[in-house]
Amino acid sequence: MTPVKGGYAVDVPVVNVSERARRENASVLSTFKAFGVTFRRMITSLFKGDMPTISYPEQQRPYSERFRGTHILTVRNDGSLKCVACYMCATICPAECIYIEAGEHPNPEIEKFPRRFDIDMMRCIYCGFCVDACPEEAIIMSREHHQAVYNRSETIYNIEKLMQRPGITAKGPGYRPNVPFAEAKIFDPAQDKECPIPSVVEERHPAVLYESMINKRH
Ligand code: SF4
Ligand code: SF4
Repeated sequence: MTPVKGGYAVDVPVVNVSERARRENASVLSTFKAFGVTFRRMITSLFKGDMPTISYPEQQRPYSERFRGTHILTVRNDGSLKCVACYMCATICPAECIYIEAGEHPNPEIEKFPRRFDIDMMRCIYCGFCVDACPEEAIIMSREHHQAVYNRSETIYNIEKLMQRPGITAKGPGYRPNVPFAEAKIFDPAQDKECPIPSVVEERHPAVLYESMINKRH
């Protein structure tokens, strides 16, 4: 390790290939030996299935339980969002990509809920600070990372999208450091048709709002 101002830099070895070949008396024979290694690897890859590569996207690797993928907003047992619109995630977010509008909750014990909760996925750096900061485990991360879209506005994930992340059943949840999984029910539109949030969500989240939000940032 090389000491540098403010810390240490890792030494990266430099390999001079031609010098090393001279030192090791490389010859025509060693060239054929190298071909032999390549040929042996080809045989094991073809016939023993010993391949480090996979046929993505048909095949996908299992990701760690701590994988920081697309966010999920969790819900209570009655299907309502766990989020209490405290703004801690938005405050800690280094990319400033969380936008929340709070509303007054009818239950005085809960006080607030998010009328609007958007994450701009193009700005997010998937650091997981929002998950760390949340006092309710209302936001967790998934192991989902596919985010191909056709236009910029689709990269702003709203409440519905954050509640219904695809891939959660197949891949399982990702980074959620605080509470055991069983306590954070994931919204499943196939089973949880009574979820009260989507019934009014279209009224509160017209697409034009996203457009105006994007325009404001440009
Ligand atoms: S993962 Fe990091 S950058 Fe992304 S929304 Fe959370 S705090 Fe912000
Ligand atoms: S997701 Fe968590 S930290 Fe963010 S506003 Fe909701 S309750 Fe607060």
